[in-house]
Amino acid sequence: MTSAATERSDGGAMYALVEKLYPICRSITGNGVRETLQTLSSYVPLSVHEVPTGTPVLDWTVPKEWNVRDAWIADASGKRVVDFRASNLHLVGYSVPVRARMSLDALRPHLHALPDRPDLVPYRTSYYEETWGFCLTQRQLDAIPDGDYEVCVDSTLEPGSLTYGELVVPGESDEEILVSAHVCHPSLSDDNLTGIAVATFLARALASRPRRRYTTRFLYAPGTIGALAWLAANRERARRIRHGLTLTCLGDAQPLTYKRTVGGSSEIDRAAIHVLATSALPHAAIDFFPYGYDERQYNSPGFRIPVGSLMRGRHGQFPEYHTSADNMAFVSADRMAEALRVCRDVIDVLEGNAAYVNLAPDGEPQLGRRGLYGSLGGTNVAARQLAMLWVLNLSDGQHDLLAIAERARAPFGDVREAADLLLSHGLLREREI
Ligand code: ZN
Repeated sequence: MTSAATERSDGGAMYALVEKLYPICRSITGNGVRETLQTLSSYVPLSVHEVPTGTPVLDWTVPKEWNVRDAWIADASGKRVVDFRASNLHLVGYSVPVRARMSLDALRPHLHALPDRPDLVPYRTSYYEETWGFCLTQRQLDAIPDGDYEVCVDSTLEPGSLTYGELVVPGESDEEILVSAHVCHPSLSDDNLTGIAVATFLARALASRPRRRYTTRFLYAPGTIGALAWLAANRERARRIRHGLTLTCLGDAQPLTYKRTVGGSSEIDRAAIHVLATSALPHAAIDFFPYGYDERQYNSPGFRIPVGSLMRGRHGQFPEYHTSADNMAFVSADRMAEALRVCRDVIDVLEGNAAYVNLAPDGEPQLGRRGLYGSLGGTNVAARQLAMLWVLNLSDGQHDLLAIAERARAPFGDVREAADLLLSHGLLREREI
């Protein structure tokens, strides 16, 4: 298959995966996460970890496990006016069990709608305060007549465990790249499912490569508490992570956005920004802020793992965010395929980056005599010759290939190819970065 055809078929397969995961009622604990990881296991060989309720994880404690069978509000005739079976967004996540009969007025404090977006159901949770509630559209709420209602939340909140998935694609080095996606949102497509799908297809792409320098670790964990649980159990391993990315919201129509690490100039920052800058795709780079997704845990002062974040729609910044409008129609196969390509290119930069010293630094070495001009076939010969001259000029011990690509504004692949050619002609030697 051509690379464009592969990209299209990966896009379609990622969309199908998101569609398969969409109906599952996920939360920070419970069977929804297990079922999600089980589904992913047919794509990649995941290992699943369970962390018991009550386990201290850094400054937090693993909460009780939440599961739900059914939930509804029914009128006097028994007709369900709000029904969890129609959409799991109708139930506030972590709602405690309840069975009661109450007036609409007594029920109101437990009902959540969005008056400014009257056709959307909001997504709400209450993890750390034991309460219950329902979410519905403002139009649905306005249409409920006064009267008495039967309320049922058939859930359990009991000692159990928190579940996360982990996948290691081994490389030659035990230095690692971390790719992390949250798995705790119920029926929301862009916010969590597209990140999961792109991470999974990135893992498959890396696993199929004949050679890998870095070991890449994929983490599928519930937001915040799941990342904290992993960090608490893996302090030593965390020290070996050189570069990381959280992936989320990669299927919507917004331009790709890279959020920098807290330091702002780590190799992952430079690699991601360089790939976007040379991709011809609309894109943006934004500074770190200690909110958003799990990059804030990895970048915390006790760990300071350089983890950036790749997204399209930004956390809390688009009207569909955390609502029923973040559905299958909101995401597209092509947007996910584009994001996957960018992720692969970023990993290529990290894998291929190195620093060299020019062994013929006095003036420009005579490339024609060495057959180096004639050796470049294919397209873009002039650009690739120029890349060779850039590598020779800047391989002074101060610049790695990524810095050369940045300075030359050339795709990293061209610079890497030029360096390989010069290496094979004895014009460069490797230098420790
Ligand atoms: Zn979210």
